Amino acid sequence: MATNNIQDHIDGVLARKRAMLARTITMIESALPEHQEMAQKVLDALIPYAGNAVRVGITGVPGVGKSTFIESFGMMLVEQGHRVAVLAVDPSSSKSGGSVMGDKTRMEKLSLHPQAYIRPSPSSGTLGGVAKKTRETMIICEAAGYDIILVETVGVGQSETTVASMVDFFLLLMLAGAGDELQGIKKGILELADAIAINKADGDNIDRAMEAKNDYNSALNLLTSDSAIWSVPVLTCSALTTDGLEDIWQTILDHRDRMNSTGELTERRRRQAIDWMWALIEDGLKDQFKTNADVKAQLPEMIRAVEKGKTSPTAAAHQLLARHLKG
Ligand code: GDP
Repeated sequence: MATNNIQDHIDGVLARKRAMLARTITMIESALPEHQEMAQKVLDALIPYAGNAVRVGITGVPGVGKSTFIESFGMMLVEQGHRVAVLAVDPSSSKSGGSVMGDKTRMEKLSLHPQAYIRPSPSSGTLGGVAKKTRETMIICEAAGYDIILVETVGVGQSETTVASMVDFFLLLMLAGAGDELQGIKKGILELADAIAINKADGDNIDRAMEAKNDYNSALNLLTSDSAIWSVPVLTCSALTTDGLEDIWQTILDHRDRMNSTGELTERRRRQAIDWMWALIEDGLKDQFKTNADVKAQLPEMIRAVEKGKTSPTAAAHQLLARHLKG
């Protein structure tokens, strides 16, 4: 990696060279300070070329059919002439060493297609760290001419919220056939969705899928939408047969038109950018705090004092912050 200079990375990405794209993303994912420094410069240079893609988040429980869906949906889009990048946010891979999304060969056809680029989840760090790298990777992919970015995530902790905060459209895949599932949806997730698609609506399952669609529609009616211009549709699809995938794409385009005509897309992205900036500031401050020598020296003692009730959490926090500010 060290043999390439910053300009090589910028030129290579803009010239849509896959090897250079991959190397640039690897640099972004690297923890080495010199790589990070270079990556930031490359990113700054590429940001003006980014931002034009349709950014779609896709979530759902393991087994709902996310990989199969992305394979079929992605193939449909590349066949229409789009260039599709598939990214993932899977913080479980950093904790367990194995990923919830699995190491199975995923999206076999799509991964071989010249207009598609699939990048697995960055595998180190906290959700915040993984998300930061994915956001930056998204910018690199957009600069490399991918006009549709699919960001996949599985329902682990906060990862859906994180992905929803980096996309224009958030699709929730669900399964039919269980009242239980309806109970099981975390209300917060339902509120993040811009559309719900009941997958596996094929064969014997079609009737149940239609029933589920009605159930989810009534469930959604109980939630008040925070957007006056968009009511969340419930669709059915089969990632296996590709039925319903066109409708989902059309829904995404309709949503985009609506958001564009009201200025809400720009507003959403502006909000996301500001939120992202604050998240980075918080991370940066926390890092600085934790690596401050004075703070480090005093921290164990303070923790013990708070544990024993000798010092209040408030007083301890004040003292530690004062140390940090002096340092
Ligand atoms: P993921 O864990 O959400 O990525 O789910 P996968 O894409 O790995 O799919 C889990 C299983 O469901 C696999 O055996 C798929 O073949 C199957 N599957 C996925 N989509 C469909 C579908 O639309 N219809 C049917 N019948 N099976 C599906």
